[in-house]
Amino acid sequence: MQPLIGHAALRRELAALAASPEPPHALLFAGPESTGRAPLARYLAMLFNCEALHPAPPAGASFFGDDLPPVAPAANPGEPCGACRPCRLIAEGAHPDVITVSPGDALCKPRDGESHPAHPDSADIRICQVRGITDLVARYPFEARTRVIIIDPADRLALYAAPALLKTLEEPPGHTVFCLLTAAPERLLETIISRCRRIDVRPVPRADIEAGLLQRGVEPERAAEAAAAARGRPGRALAFIAEPDLIGARGRILERCAEIAAAGLPARFDYARSLAERWRGDQAAVRFELECWEAYWETGLRAAAARGDRAAIAGALEALRAIANVREHLLASVQARPAFDLMLLRFPRGTLVPSTEEELPAHA
Ligand SMILES: [Zn+2]
Ligand SMILES: [Zn+2]
Repeated sequence: MQPLIGHAALRRELAALAASPEPPHALLFAGPESTGRAPLARYLAMLFNCEALHPAPPAGASFFGDDLPPVAPAANPGEPCGACRPCRLIAEGAHPDVITVSPGDALCKPRDGESHPAHPDSADIRICQVRGITDLVARYPFEARTRVIIIDPADRLALYAAPALLKTLEEPPGHTVFCLLTAAPERLLETIISRCRRIDVRPVPRADIEAGLLQRGVEPERAAEAAAAARGRPGRALAFIAEPDLIGARGRILERCAEIAAAGLPARFDYARSLAERWRGDQAAVRFELECWEAYWETGLRAAAARGDRAAIAGALEALRAIANVREHLLASVQARPAFDLMLLRFPRGTLVPSTEEELPAHA
């Protein structure tokens, strides 16, 4: 099993929760993309199900004195072993009772008698999927002590799906724990939030990411480069390792950011149009570009703060807010072109030296 990167304190908190006499039925993992919300939810699933933490009573042993092969104790007391069947299946995403529900077809259950076209590309988690969840949790888990249902991202629950899920959270079924993941907790119903134990997942210090990569056998130079570019997001660092071209692409985008930031309105609007066009075909690429913009303005913000330049600080903060707003607009399916136009209008004008190497404070 690959060890989780960072979050030592949260891991201890989750271990304490899982071992408590009345563990929570629902947890809300709130934090930015790629910071480790899903790995932490799977870690929780291991805490509930690891055979080293929950040894089965040796059936028959008291009558016949059979010596059953002992389960290896966990390497660190209180941590899942990572080697037993449940731990391995959970790590591989193959455990039949640890289920992730995202926008798409997972657990889709049409209403009785209705036909219902498949919706693998839907943008929301639909009520038919919540129906599937309700159905599932009414039954015993296949093999788990505790079933874990991961809802990712919980802010994509459709209008009617959220209240339907709320009903299940209000009458928590046995043997089941819900993990709701989100980067935008303010988009969730207050009634859902109040049912969940909240776990704030913050960016991970660069040194922890680097150490995590080294532990995974990444060579030191690449580990340092990926950890620096990841801006507190272990998932992003792993993507940089898996696809080394991404780091080069990031460098080129940051150079382009510097050009656009120095350019006048016509060039900015051309760029906004190209973003909107690409958004139609490849949303992931545009999201990546927005992340680069965020890195660009954060670098600018640090530089401005270091030299005490108040106007530049205000400009960089406004740019970061503009990026946050454009993300919200795109989530809410606002037309992309005007949203990108507005973002480019709000960016201050000026050049910054792009830097990919500066460290973000861990709790930025
Ligand atoms: Zn285990
Ligand atoms: Zn459906």
